[in-house]
Amino acid sequence: MEYKEVINFIRNKFETKDFVPLHSPVFRGNERKYVLDTLDSTYVSSVGAYVDKAEKMMVEISGTRSAVAVVNGTSGLQVALKLAGVQGGDEVLTQALTFVATANAIHYASAEPVFLDVDYDTMGLSPKAVSQFLEEYGEMRDDGAYNKKSGKRISACLPMHTFGFPVHMDELLVVCSKWGIPIVEDAAESLGSYYKGKHSGSFGKLGVFSFNGNKIVTSGGGGMIVTQDEDLGKLGKHLTTTAKVPHPYEYAHDNVGYNFRMPNLNAALFCGQLEQLDGFLQNKRQLAIDYAEFFETQGITFRRETENTHANYWLMCVELESLKHRNSFLKITNEGQIMTRPIWQLMYRLPMYSHCYKDDQKNAEYLEERIVNIPSSVRS
Ligand SMILES: *Cc1c(COP(=O)(O)O)cnc(C)c1O
Repeated sequence: MEYKEVINFIRNKFETKDFVPLHSPVFRGNERKYVLDTLDSTYVSSVGAYVDKAEKMMVEISGTRSAVAVVNGTSGLQVALKLAGVQGGDEVLTQALTFVATANAIHYASAEPVFLDVDYDTMGLSPKAVSQFLEEYGEMRDDGAYNKKSGKRISACLPMHTFGFPVHMDELLVVCSKWGIPIVEDAAESLGSYYKGKHSGSFGKLGVFSFNGNKIVTSGGGGMIVTQDEDLGKLGKHLTTTAKVPHPYEYAHDNVGYNFRMPNLNAALFCGQLEQLDGFLQNKRQLAIDYAEFFETQGITFRRETENTHANYWLMCVELESLKHRNSFLKITNEGQIMTRPIWQLMYRLPMYSHCYKDDQKNAEYLEERIVNIPSSVRS
């Protein structure tokens, strides 16, 4: 295999003879205007109108009641787990096929990840795997679900919508509500993705988005916690802004809060970006259609959105036949100055999570050997 046609096709799509990145941001809206506005106002830091505006826009887009802007997605996940009731020594059900931040956030919340398999079609946490785990290890006690083998409380479930393809949420909600386990959605990759017409991140007790530089829209660095529970949203705002008790001049704090707020400077950039989300989504969808058509002629599977979902096509991917095919595809495309990347190593292969429980991981290991991300930026 030489993948010459693949390289040519991608070069054509991005209209360049140079290096083609995986995902680079584009700034062609009001970003400059808004950022300069914060400089002119001197409000670049911890307070400012753009933070409020960013939160209002995210409430609207996600169809939730409350949004809290934070410094990045990882810290958003950490706080969201706490808000969901996760305490030190608990277990949190999640997938091993994810970016390391998902597992790290569980660790920061002083809990242990339990790695369960993903579904083959969504590449996200499998409701069936969660159900099987709970049937085997779960035990209902007065204060919630416990793992009867480890003796630890199972206090949250953290599914991740891989590359913007939504998890089978209806089935997951059924299992988790049966066991009284709150869901926190790692929606870091899925801004603009819908499941049965509802936005990702709006199904669980809380959802968390990331606006890192490689995501579908960026604030430079930043994230957002969303929830349908307004009281929880207020508590989230309080905890992420040093838990300060309002007072005209005294410094009073009623909790060990965090300095996790999004600076106004970043919020300004974000507002400029978010205004263009619909255009970005359309632009990427057209590329996905073109990719699907092309890869069919190459005998390579291009991953499409699953039934009942509308994916944002944040990072697009192909599924190669085998590990051998994957390796040669990665080597040849990268040598050809086309940036491609394998899907993540499974979390239990990393030294700090190798001791954690994992189930059979049949789908995760299959996908780990075959999925490769290809250039997915918004095009000019
Ligand atoms: C990007 C990402 C995060 C973390 O977001 P940051 O804003 O970079 O901290 C968390 N989980 C997943 C799955 C991500 O892709």
